Amino acid sequence: NPLLKVRQLTVNVEDKEILHQVDLDIATGETHVLMGPNGAGKSTLGYALMGNPRYDVTGGSVLFDGADLLDLSADQRAKSGLFLSFQNPLEVPGITLGNFIRNAVEQRTGERVRLWNFRKQLEKECEILDMDPSYVDRDLNVGFSGGEKKKAEILQLLMLKPKLAILDETDSGLDVDAVRTVSKGVEEYQKQEDGALLIITHNTGILSSLKVDHTHVLVNGQVVGGGDASLVDEINRDGYEKYEAKAAK
Ligand code: ADP
Ligand code: MG
Ligand code: MG
Repeated sequence: NPLLKVRQLTVNVEDKEILHQVDLDIATGETHVLMGPNGAGKSTLGYALMGNPRYDVTGGSVLFDGADLLDLSADQRAKSGLFLSFQNPLEVPGITLGNFIRNAVEQRTGERVRLWNFRKQLEKECEILDMDPSYVDRDLNVGFSGGEKKKAEILQLLMLKPKLAILDETDSGLDVDAVRTVSKGVEEYQKQEDGALLIITHNTGILSSLKVDHTHVLVNGQVVGGGDASLVDEINRDGYEKYEAKAAK
């Protein structure tokens, strides 16, 4: 059985149907890429899977790690090992990045974090991400640059060790070096925990050091194509025209 099994998932946003009968299977340790034009519904899929209440699932089913995901609250979904990295990470004054991660780890594991070990691990992951460890004592994302916010998301990923991470355009708006660093962090996550990934992206940069198992194409809220890693290059060259014809409106 796959880790994630999405069947005929239909999602409304403000009473408008955005996703139409989406099917998706992701096995443990696999890396999948989700591509699609702006407004196709890629972020909607991420939010619906995480249980954001604005995204109303009107049909279909989702199994995650053997459980019915749609029966779980957003909190329970995170605890069960699902992680979403936001396209636009929020700034949260009053809580430091380090404490935010510590709370999340304690929620996820149900155990108190041992501070010394936690700190050491934070420092280790910061080094991988080429991130000054002093960032963990700053308020979450407040005054962080675009690149620093994305690194902070990957730091959460490395500390939380989810079973499946959905990365929603984590690479967008980053310079070449930052993309490489983020990619290195994602590779580290894959290595450490045999973690599965659903990477929403328009670029090959973040994928350079990752082995991609499957690419999916979403147009007008429908999965209209798929293939291997080479599909990313093909779409960047030829665009979505061929796929748009397949997406019945
Ligand atoms: P993508 O991530 O592929 O660019 P989105 O999932 O963000 O696409 O959006 C898909 C469609 O759903 C768009 O038409 C968008 O306007 C609409 N939509 C998504 N989220 C919301 C929301 N919170 N409120 C209203 N409309 C939304
Ligand atoms: Mg978009
Ligand atoms: Mg989006």
